[in-house]
Amino acid sequence: MSLDPAPLDAADPLAAFSEQFLAPDDFDVISYLDGNSLGRPLKATAALLASFVRDQWGGRLIRGWTDEWLEWPITLGDRLGRVALGAAAGQTVIADSTTVLIYKLARAAVDARPGRNRVVLDTDNFPTDRYVLEGIAAERGLELVWIETDPVTGIEPSQVAEVVDERTALVLFSHVAYRSGWLAAVPEITRIAHDAGALAMWDLCHSAGSVPIFLDKWGVDMAVGCTYKYLNGGPGAPAFAYLASHLLGSVRQPIWGWMGHRASFEMGPGYEPAAGSRALLSGTPPILAMVPLHANLDMLEEAGIGAVREKSLLLTGYALEIADEWLAPHGVEVVSPRDPARRGGHITLKRAGFDKLLDPLWERGVIPDYRRPDGLRIGPAPLSTSFAEVHRGLSVLRSLLEK
Ligand SMILES: *Cc1c(COP(=O)(O)O)cnc(C)c1O
Repeated sequence: MSLDPAPLDAADPLAAFSEQFLAPDDFDVISYLDGNSLGRPLKATAALLASFVRDQWGGRLIRGWTDEWLEWPITLGDRLGRVALGAAAGQTVIADSTTVLIYKLARAAVDARPGRNRVVLDTDNFPTDRYVLEGIAAERGLELVWIETDPVTGIEPSQVAEVVDERTALVLFSHVAYRSGWLAAVPEITRIAHDAGALAMWDLCHSAGSVPIFLDKWGVDMAVGCTYKYLNGGPGAPAFAYLASHLLGSVRQPIWGWMGHRASFEMGPGYEPAAGSRALLSGTPPILAMVPLHANLDMLEEAGIGAVREKSLLLTGYALEIADEWLAPHGVEVVSPRDPARRGGHITLKRAGFDKLLDPLWERGVIPDYRRPDGLRIGPAPLSTSFAEVHRGLSVLRSLLEK
């Protein structure tokens, strides 16, 4: 089997998008394989940030708030909803961090289901999701119901069906498992939760910008995700929250701040939530950190999430072929789904001793993601990564394993 990346790159309809990024050749990076942790910056982002500081911050000063900054959490949220989440306008905001938004929505969900005292989650969900739910359970006297997920695959509808019942207020899972890359059956699991009268919340951190999402069609109640992974928002860029329109009036998030108030600048005596998705906001929006999203959403809209997904599957499929041919003989195991229908945007390789290879890989300009104790995640971002880049990175890994 040929592992030559040239024909794959030649046939790639998205190849030209890599030119929109600050070029890898400008730096000491020969292979960046961690788009699922921190996306690369666009050239347009560098320009937008510079002009924002000069013209908008410097020139408009506080007038910028009423020019448009106060609307950004809503307008950018709606745009993200349309381009990447399958969400009609009025349900998505950009705000806070994923962690904080999980708290706000999960608390809102359990408060909206009085008399139900259980929250269902899985043992392999991302730590922050688990910790926040532990905190809410302690705060509200709830019981956490843990589903043991297989770390090589992920959450299955049948596992959810076994544990949800009339005591369940909320289920929370990740669309793409951060370790294995397992792509959960969101519509089925959501339906199972609904049949038991529970609300369903999804963490989209590892799928937004990589896997097509249809929140409205799937009937999802709540979703959160970050914008600094496949959405290239930059380190610590704010997160997004989706609350289905049928819940907007009746579900109330617990951090009542002035920016979620009906009339923020009346400075009134008591909290009255704003109508619609603005009620999800709490404090002053992180405007500077939202600037890159404008450029990223332009790019994603132009490329189309469907085409991004097609390339993503080809990239991870290619990485799997290389792993089988070059790395398996050195004891490397693939601990991710091989079925494209169940595979997210990254794969994980496992071998004892990977921790000792991280420094030599970085020294050689190869940057995968490392998960303790023995996992290397390969997350090639489709818009910035070529097949040649995957080939280069994994051939350096092979040569280190040969030593
Ligand atoms: C990256 C990630 C997070 C990160 O949350 P922060 O609040 O941005 O630190 C949360 N959940 C999942 C599934 C993630 O992959």
